[in-house]
Amino acid sequence: MANKLKNLEDLFKHELKDLYSAETQILEALPKMAEKASNPDLKKAFEHHLEETKNQKKRIEEVCKKLDFDPKGETCKAMKGIIKEAEDMLKEDADPEVMDAALIAEAQRVEHYEMAGYGTVCTYAERLGYNDIKNKLAETLEEEKNADNTLNKVSKNVNAKAEASH
Ligand code: ZN
Ligand code: FE
Ligand code: FE
Ligand code: FE
Repeated sequence: MANKLKNLEDLFKHELKDLYSAETQILEALPKMAEKASNPDLKKAFEHHLEETKNQKKRIEEVCKKLDFDPKGETCKAMKGIIKEAEDMLKEDADPEVMDAALIAEAQRVEHYEMAGYGTVCTYAERLGYNDIKNKLAETLEEEKNADNTLNKVSKNVNAKAEASH
């Protein structure tokens, strides 16, 4: 019996499906996180990244179309776990300032997972000679890094307020 993953091309496609599942799950979680955020900059950061995420999902669809396979059918179990943790946090009885800090902590876990995943598929795309595809995926990687940086910036104020909360 032939292995399902017989070369880097197969692994590349598997990782794209994994990211497609991750983005799909994030699209459902981000509105809840934006809703729960009190700090206006944090709310704006989530809303902005929600719009980017819609486009990121589309990018994977375009890439998969070019490579002639369906991105659906895989579940990213890691993102399922990260989002479960975030949703449990949303239910915690926390002061709004502390909840904001917690939302950032959860959201950065999401962004770092995505940065790892997109870094990998960019490397594979380059190796496999898919230059246009690599550039498309690198756009998403940049957005994930920017989202993480924005969260770092917002966290300065948010954490200070959480520290002073009583
Ligand atoms: Zn996987
Ligand atoms: Fe994303
Ligand atoms: Fe995954
Ligand atoms: Fe993201």
